Amino acid sequence: MIAPQEALRIVLEKSPRLEAVEVPLPEADGAVLDESVASDSDLPPFDKSAMDGYAVRSADLARLPADLAVVESLPAGTAPTRPIQGGTCAKIMTGAPVPEGADTVVRVEHTEWLAGGRVRILRSDLPQRNICARGEDVRKGETVLEVGRVLHPPEIGLLASVGRERVRIVRRPTVAVLATGDELVSVSTVPGPGQIRDANSWSLLACCRRAGVGAESLGVARDTLDHLGDRIARGLERDVLLVSGGVSVGEWDLVPKVLRDLGVAIHFATVRMKPGKPTLFGTHGRGLVFGLPGNPVSTIVGFHLFVLPALRRMMGWADPAPPTVAATLAVGAKVRGDRTAYLPAVLRREGETWTAEVIETRGSADLVGFSRADALVVLEPGVHPTGTRVQVLPLQF
Ligand code: AMP
Ligand code: MG
Repeated sequence: MIAPQEALRIVLEKSPRLEAVEVPLPEADGAVLDESVASDSDLPPFDKSAMDGYAVRSADLARLPADLAVVESLPAGTAPTRPIQGGTCAKIMTGAPVPEGADTVVRVEHTEWLAGGRVRILRSDLPQRNICARGEDVRKGETVLEVGRVLHPPEIGLLASVGRERVRIVRRPTVAVLATGDELVSVSTVPGPGQIRDANSWSLLACCRRAGVGAESLGVARDTLDHLGDRIARGLERDVLLVSGGVSVGEWDLVPKVLRDLGVAIHFATVRMKPGKPTLFGTHGRGLVFGLPGNPVSTIVGFHLFVLPALRRMMGWADPAPPTVAATLAVGAKVRGDRTAYLPAVLRREGETWTAEVIETRGSADLVGFSRADALVVLEPGVHPTGTRVQVLPLQF
């Protein structure tokens, strides 16, 4: 049995960063950038009005109110045709280029329209000029995104702003999900005696989707060497194979034997944690295999602790382990035995601090209880009184 930290260290050490690929911009969301991106233009590309109002010369605002002649109207997307001279101004909309000669925009709320193409300026925002200067965000040729950046919606918008229709990212792993167990039936089937519906295929596929990785279901394998061998062999063609169930010490827990027979090197098969003691990790060339215990809560906890960091490392994340939050225990907790406990909990913000309340569940088969949790409290064996500072892993990602 190894400690969870040691297990994670092994997983990350064996998880290869995948190669770079070029993808269309919409497919880059959530991926890691594998090139450094420079701007193809100044941003903004011209002096741009930040307000709806009037482009004026600040010298004309020395005494207020001031009446000015309006020489033209400039909606966004038009180019000014007339420079602004003393005593004149242009009506201007947010996003339109500021005409030559003007050095400030007075917002429309501070003006009064007069007859005969004139406007009265009642107040100014000076010294604020309400103009976004050309190149103030970034200059043409300057780097806007460096290698290794994880792309989120703002970065996607930025890439569009600098004209990148395609972008080089680290490839995402392909994942296969296999549930195992003679007792499992599909979601559309009413379970007969001794049967239950397969939950883990679905929760694992959802976990992968959340991680930004497409996963394929290989269905349910029966607990026979032949059937398991067939399905697992197919799964080994992917970068990552997730097997749920069949990794414990029961008579029908045949997954480790099948993996060994297919040439998988098993790096660990038991972890000092609760839930999830029979968690298996192996490699097959550059491919990874995770054997997650079949109880539905253990499966999700195992994904969170080991699979998610592995996927992120493969996708090029520099810091792939899910972040933890420091919190205080709302109610004391006791951990028996010798394994690190990952207890379902609800995280709450109380003023400046976070508190974590461990919730009562019926254990690692209880998805009903677990579904009320949004975090895992990490506790070593022993007694932990109310108010103890603890590490908490938020489950939403
Ligand atoms: P195992 O790890 O195969 O010994 O399974 C442990 C427990 O989890 C048993 O009660 C199984 O019936 C249950 N289980 C295994 N696989 C699944 C699954 N895909 N969905 C729901 N429960 C499962
Ligand atoms: Mg089983």
